[in-house]
Amino acid sequence: MKKLFITLTLVLVLPVLSNGWGFFAHKTIAQVAVYALPGSMQAFYFRHLNEIVKMSIAADERREADPAEAPRHFIDMDHFGDDPFGDMPKAWDDAAARYTADTLRKYGTVPWTVLEVKEKLTEAFRQRDTTAIIALSADLCHYISDAHVPLHTTMNYDGQLSGQAGMHSLWESKLPERHIAKYKLDSKPAKYIKDPQAAIWAVVQESYGFLGATFDLEEAVTRNFTPETKYTFSHRYGKTRRSYSDAFADAYHDKVGGMVAYRLKQAPTAVASMWLTAWQDAGKPDLNVLMSRKPGKEEKAKLAAELKLWDKNELVPQNMLLALQKEKVVEKADEINSADQMPAAPAEAAPAIAPASAVVPASEPVITPAAPEKVKTKVKTEAGNVKQKAKAKKTDDGW
Ligand SMILES: [Zn+2]
Repeated sequence: MKKLFITLTLVLVLPVLSNGWGFFAHKTIAQVAVYALPGSMQAFYFRHLNEIVKMSIAADERREADPAEAPRHFIDMDHFGDDPFGDMPKAWDDAAARYTADTLRKYGTVPWTVLEVKEKLTEAFRQRDTTAIIALSADLCHYISDAHVPLHTTMNYDGQLSGQAGMHSLWESKLPERHIAKYKLDSKPAKYIKDPQAAIWAVVQESYGFLGATFDLEEAVTRNFTPETKYTFSHRYGKTRRSYSDAFADAYHDKVGGMVAYRLKQAPTAVASMWLTAWQDAGKPDLNVLMSRKPGKEEKAKLAAELKLWDKNELVPQNMLLALQKEKVVEKADEINSADQMPAAPAEAAPAIAPASAVVPASEPVITPAAPEKVKTKVKTEAGNVKQKAKAKKTDDGW
């Protein structure tokens, strides 16, 4: 009987750990970003919606093959002292002069990566290079989304330095996957960004401001759990893996869900705004010219219907959120054949959605980011030893 119970437990737990689930938030942000675009760009992006959503996780997939890729997804601001945002020069050259380029690459480069990809996208618009526009838009979406996640701004990125290991995928994967039905995805429309450097640094700083609550509330919720109820254990490839239980995730979500929903709602606006800025900086090329066939009646009606569902916050109940759908064959893009150059994404199961018991008001954060100077990442010791961070093992299967 015990054996049967263990088997059943494994069957139930393993799907939760399947790789594809962590990409949920990235795909959601990419889809909503297309809806947040102005009409002058939207038809083109909508034509390529499935590709952009699919490729929004390509940057994470590249990490497997390219060790230089990982630092592009985060920046450990707490490495740079008590007033990191005051001390850190915002421009790459100045920051590299102060800390060395090697140090910056070691502790993460996400804000500069965003600016670099934005420049490449601007150039792709100038060249009218559809394949590059799609791929770079997807990458830009990815990096901007990562910058919205508090745990992408700290050395304690998984709670591993404070006895809270496992927080990374809890925050950025498990919480949004279980509670997306409660979120309002009504992101604001894209706007031209006059100073992209200041804008992306503001995103990073706000993420950093959320760190205190991210860690403290985990600790507060833990008081109502025992180790047995807080975690679940699974065994795979001869290893036992510990992760947060559903019950803990839901109790934690009651505390920080507003923050998760808030970041998930802000990211698409930031992404669409950066796409718009690249396009405008390139001289606003006519994107209709890049489509071999003009959008027909059906395609226009489909976009209008999706925008309406988005506006009414019905993407999830109407099963129109692509991140929740099973992997679809990418529709053949009309004028490009970039699909065969795309990395194949692993097939993934759609995450289960918890029933919406209460709507999280995503319009305002339940928790506001703390002033950056007050934020400090707690470094606790376990049995007197500070756990060493293992950069090489850093995994990011979510935002
Ligand atoms: Zn990433």
